[in-house]
Amino acid sequence: MIGPVLTHFQGVILSLSGSGLESNKSVGAPSDRCCLQACPRLSWETERILTRQDKTQPSCPEGASRAAQSHFAAPVSSYVRDRLVKPEVRDRRAAMDRSATVEHYKAAMLLSGAGDALGYRNQLWEYNESGPAIHQELKELGGLKSIKAELPDWPVSDDTVLHLATAEGLATGKMGEELLHEVAARYVKGMKDMDGRKPGPSSILGVSLLKPGEEEGFRVPYNSEGTGCGAAMRSMCIGLRYPKPDQLLSLVAVAVETGRMTHPHPTGFLGAVAAALFTSYAVQRRPITTWGLGLVNEACPIAKTFVRGRGFAIEEAERDWGYFCDKWQWYLDLRGISNGVGPVIWPSSYDPAGRDSAYKTFSLSGWAGRSGHDAPMIALDALLGAGSDWEELMSRAGFHGGDSDSTAVIACCCWGLLYGRQGVPEGNYSNLEYRERLERSAEQLYALSH
Ligand SMILES: [Mg+2]
Repeated sequence: MIGPVLTHFQGVILSLSGSGLESNKSVGAPSDRCCLQACPRLSWETERILTRQDKTQPSCPEGASRAAQSHFAAPVSSYVRDRLVKPEVRDRRAAMDRSATVEHYKAAMLLSGAGDALGYRNQLWEYNESGPAIHQELKELGGLKSIKAELPDWPVSDDTVLHLATAEGLATGKMGEELLHEVAARYVKGMKDMDGRKPGPSSILGVSLLKPGEEEGFRVPYNSEGTGCGAAMRSMCIGLRYPKPDQLLSLVAVAVETGRMTHPHPTGFLGAVAAALFTSYAVQRRPITTWGLGLVNEACPIAKTFVRGRGFAIEEAERDWGYFCDKWQWYLDLRGISNGVGPVIWPSSYDPAGRDSAYKTFSLSGWAGRSGHDAPMIALDALLGAGSDWEELMSRAGFHGGDSDSTAVIACCCWGLLYGRQGVPEGNYSNLEYRERLERSAEQLYALSH
């Protein structure tokens, strides 16, 4: 079933029909890599096993049994495992078991903005290259619990201004190219609200070239420098608008086309696909260990077919396509989650200094989280390691050397969908800049998608 937006992308539908949506099904995981396709319920069953510690027999006994053994042998991480026994953490895990509600949507948008403001710290921490130094400063401030993320010292950065632009554009309920013009217009407007928020160069350039309302005015010329995280950091809400598995094509279509309004290089706009996909997976309660596999084996092939069908910058996109998927496959192999199950493999020491070193190896050129592929990668890494612990999530996703606001904005959005606001110090979000807009757009997106 094709989501409603795709009915407006007629050329793509023809293209997809030509190559066959069946082929998109077949581009999933090879059988020796993952049995999720053969047994779609496996992932949910294994998560239930991990959470409830029971021995419920899933509908795919052989695969689930393997998965369960893996989880019991070395579940997620020792950090998370140790905390699974704590009552407050069990409560939060139980909260995650429930379907995503409008409150989860509101938490996602709000905590995303909070993570941005905290990781940014009015420019000071986005440009601090040392995670240990940031943690030391955090300690001197009294720790995360003591921080009131509010103006004037803790503004949201470009990430949240443009995330709101995407969200409020989607919340109009428009579809197809009308939606793209709407979002483009909101990016143009959003760029007028950037004093002290440090937008990236590709975002500045791309938005300056947009001509919303004019024919093809949502397109900008191909830019081989457009690899940054600017498209990823503003796209989580696309997964809130199209959260269901049968809406994947709509999600990919909107993420690609809004993403390449500023980041026409695949490393840039596939970052938008990743951020949107991960929030949709969070809504679906799909286990985090499967998210990267879904990105590489499900969403990216659909994005490639979509780009071909749109007839714009095909040659350039195909030429530059490989890096994003190759690097993601490298990461999944590194963490032992190429099979979507695990067990997750962690370095023996993964403190702030260790994470700085590791995150640099994720990056394109040594600046962690700066690019379209590694901002969602660091976010996923933090979600995998932190479980339901907000402080640990911020430590990993928001307080590291590199583009710490853009990694936090993605991780915190997913975290809010999974766990709500439980365990988050009220000061971290209660007077956050643009709180009302963030929560209102969340309510609108929930109403449109449920
Ligand atoms: Mg920023």
